[in-house]
Amino acid sequence: MTGALERTGLDRRLWRGLIAVAALLLVTYPLFFDDLFYQNMIILSLILAIGAVGLNIIMGYAGYISLGQSAFIGLGAYTVGIASTRIGGDPFVWIPLAGVIAALFAALLGVIAMRTRGFAFVIITIAALFILQIVAINWDSLTQGTSGITVPLPTWDISIQNWPFYYTLIALLGASLLLSWWIRRTKIGTGLLAIREDEDKAATVGIDTPVYKIIGFMASAVFLGMAGGVYGYYIAFIDPIAMFDIVISVQIILAVILGGRGTLWGPVLGAATIEPLNELANQEFGGGNSRLLIFGGLLVLTILLLPKGIIPSVRDFLERRAKRGRAALVGGRLGERRALDGKPATATGGTGQNLLEVRGLHKHFEGVRALDGCSFAVEAGTITGLIGPNGSGKTTAFNLIGGTMGADAGEVWFDGERIDRLPPWRRAYAGLGRTFQITRVFTDMTVLENVVAPLRSFSWRQLRAGAVSGEEAARADDLLAFAGMAEYRDERAEALSFGQRKLVELAQVLMLDPKLILLDEPAGGINPTLIARIADMIRELNARGKTFLIVEHNMPLVLGLCDPVLVLASGECICAGAPDEIQRDPQVLDAYLGADFKLEEPVGAP
Ligand code: ADP
Ligand code: MG
Repeated sequence: MTGALERTGLDRRLWRGLIAVAALLLVTYPLFFDDLFYQNMIILSLILAIGAVGLNIIMGYAGYISLGQSAFIGLGAYTVGIASTRIGGDPFVWIPLAGVIAALFAALLGVIAMRTRGFAFVIITIAALFILQIVAINWDSLTQGTSGITVPLPTWDISIQNWPFYYTLIALLGASLLLSWWIRRTKIGTGLLAIREDEDKAATVGIDTPVYKIIGFMASAVFLGMAGGVYGYYIAFIDPIAMFDIVISVQIILAVILGGRGTLWGPVLGAATIEPLNELANQEFGGGNSRLLIFGGLLVLTILLLPKGIIPSVRDFLERRAKRGRAALVGGRLGERRALDGKPATATGGTGQNLLEVRGLHKHFEGVRALDGCSFAVEAGTITGLIGPNGSGKTTAFNLIGGTMGADAGEVWFDGERIDRLPPWRRAYAGLGRTFQITRVFTDMTVLENVVAPLRSFSWRQLRAGAVSGEEAARADDLLAFAGMAEYRDERAEALSFGQRKLVELAQVLMLDPKLILLDEPAGGINPTLIARIADMIRELNARGKTFLIVEHNMPLVLGLCDPVLVLASGECICAGAPDEIQRDPQVLDAYLGADFKLEEPVGAP
């Protein structure tokens, strides 16, 4: 999909031709020119490009910035250096091992670092880089400390120059690109993208976020580790300062940002721009700290002037020219809604069994008691309402049930299983689906991609599956038709109106085929037509066996749709009962409805 995105506007064939010509030039260059200065520059550019294509997987796709990528170069170089000098053999033989070691280290670091987000993650990756450097300096018996390891010089004929390094690196770059392309078109890729856009939301739709992130991080390391092995052999001297160099990490990040985060070719383009600048800095300004200044400055400039990077900026420009003036929003219009296929639906009402039970939930936010011993139950087969004044803890209750937040105390039981210790995706697999008060669709994905993003289980094989399989697409189309959103399937979710997003989010949750659906203010901020539509959909789904727990302020809707209704006040469930009982309960009138409450006419009553 990235590939396709990259080329919308740009003529596909022109783009492919450009890449083919560049690849051909790259491959044939050393055969025709023997200038070692440029050969060296291309070799270093290739290493940088391999690093950037790899980093793009975790940074571009998943949104996690690692400043520790040069650690993988160092690990790879030391692996090859140590193995070839201690055990023997051609250093090239050890290159695959370098990749394995780098990937294993990424997995280890991932397990620790992936508990953090944003800035904390960046810091941990820097720390890992420095820790490795310190280990390399001090573990004399293995690494020979600061005196470094001298790798035996190549034994091939001098006339071949650096070709073996050169072509190995081209092969590694090809493999990196292939991996990046493959990841992007599988479930791993959509999972990583979902994590970048909204990690908490991704977890609630069944994406096992730590596994995805660790895979992404390993993928970012494996070929860079191998390239590090080649690098160590190439410069023939491996020392802790040059091998664990943070400036190279910065250059790798810069290459990704400059070329275009999240694109396949952007990182290559970025690397091909940065490395010659690096040579210039070394030649004209004596290298060293001046490089930090140059690349730090360049980083700031890029972020200010070309925040999206070269390829996305060019793409946007071409797209804008092509569409000229076409409105960004697709308009709030709704398509025809279609009933769900399958068995005819008849409302069954409650089954007498509790699907969800919340027992004594407590959640405090620095003095605010959002939930304070909250207990209630939702009977299977019902549409249960959850009402209460603003700030009474309704959304917090949803967060604790769905697992977006952990409770301070209390238990959540779902379908006979205690779930309050489970991560959100495991709760989704168990059959729990939720929407958010402020809709949270993945705006950078298309409507269809949004709807197929949820996962109902986890398996390694599933990760390798294509991002949108035929069967899934068919199911998603059904659900979109059910929501009346079929005609928007290929629009980017960003272009949808608020109400349309609500419908997409509902279709998305239905993809999980959940037993219980938590809706947080489904009628908030949308027009009466859409409210009626959503009420119809809820009723139809309920008739097909879905249980609902609905937070809503629209009293006509709640009283027309929900039975029973739970009332929350100050973090406690103060009352539960049929709608007409609730309306007359003095406690409820006092806490929420107001003494003079009188219902005009319920909405959507059957
Ligand atoms: P409701 O959805 O019923 O309007 P919430 O559950 O959103 O209420 O909020 C309950 C209380 O908890 C409010 O006082 C709110 O300010 C507080 N609260 C909710 N989430 C957070 C948070 N992440 N951090 C701090 N306070 C919060
Ligand atoms: Mg709320």
